[in-house]
Amino acid sequence: MNDNTYVMQAIFSEIIRNGSATRSQLSRDYDLRPATLVAAVERLKRKGILWEPDRQGRHTGRKASELTLNPKAGSFIGLELTPSRIYGVQINAAGVEERRQSVAVQPESSSKKICSLLVSLFQHLRISSGAGMVGFADPGAIDMKTGQALQTVNLPAWEKVQVFEFFRENTGDRTPLIAPETLIRTYGEYLDCTPDFPDTLFHARFSEGIGGGFISRGELLVGNHCSSMELGHMVLSPGGRRCRCGNRGCLEAVAGAAALRQMMQELVVSGVSTRMDMSQFTLAEFVRMANDNDRAAQVLAQETCERIAPVLAMVTTLLNPQMIVLSGELAGLGSMLLDAVKRAIALRCLNNPAEAIQIKISALDEYCGARSAALLRRNLFLEKTLQLCPRFLAPLSAGLG
Ligand SMILES: [Zn+2]
Repeated sequence: MNDNTYVMQAIFSEIIRNGSATRSQLSRDYDLRPATLVAAVERLKRKGILWEPDRQGRHTGRKASELTLNPKAGSFIGLELTPSRIYGVQINAAGVEERRQSVAVQPESSSKKICSLLVSLFQHLRISSGAGMVGFADPGAIDMKTGQALQTVNLPAWEKVQVFEFFRENTGDRTPLIAPETLIRTYGEYLDCTPDFPDTLFHARFSEGIGGGFISRGELLVGNHCSSMELGHMVLSPGGRRCRCGNRGCLEAVAGAAALRQMMQELVVSGVSTRMDMSQFTLAEFVRMANDNDRAAQVLAQETCERIAPVLAMVTTLLNPQMIVLSGELAGLGSMLLDAVKRAIALRCLNNPAEAIQIKISALDEYCGARSAALLRRNLFLEKTLQLCPRFLAPLSAGLG
């Protein structure tokens, strides 16, 4: 890496993660020669990418003026498609959210209908800001090389859709960013750790479907061909319940929303009492009831935590993460889930004392996927504009700090 590339990587690693940086901090932390840093900063300010508000106009003499990204360098729209809603967020280049909006998706919607909802949400979000670059959080497995949706177990209409082409044609963005939603949310969880970023973070999401993502020293792990980590379709018991993917015994077949609904019904039929209205079953309501001492919901919630926990112990054995973050409606079970996971890790993982791993429940809201998609699209824009060392989804600090 030549000197100039190293300085640019240093500046953007710091600003992308922390929102801002000072010149003195950059030269100290990255051991940069002052003249090299000044030249790079001035060049980036001239290009309209960096901003140093305190140094605009008259020199104020303040030493610690903050460098940030210039909010006007671009407008980025993140969209997340889920089986029930589409979430949209528009941010400026400094990463500040300016607009958000969501629309309902009917379970029986065709891909054509979903596409038209995505386009109208995109157009609504960009009205005030002209052009917009788009990042899309896809609900299923997606071929990361061609941008085609491969399989979406929880939204069957969203299969074989040429997602990349669709966004190119309908948004004017020549290089939209398309990635699985759990991978994109993993980046959001990582950013939420500021300022104490873990070296390695594993994120598991328990919602309508189940998925995972891993980020190591700021870089998201992307497999060879498609998707992120299909945690939900790891087969745990080959003769087990039929999963909606076609296999038997997947984690999702015992801990996904459709499976929990079915198992609740079985419990009720067998005589276990519940106050739940089964015709209105949702995961959020199930979790609320379990936390409110509803007998059937509590029994099933406890069993579900015990089924999930060994999978996270396997993940820990493989990846040895510094932090595990649990998100999605089921994470609302809180300590019931955390305790089961901690127990499983303590029992099953060699050399992984539970106290050495931080395990926590996500604190991010339902717009996290859309917002993180917009941020990743912004990062991709910076990589391309400045010809930074391509790090694909997350041009962060690996190898620099
Ligand atoms: Zn499956």
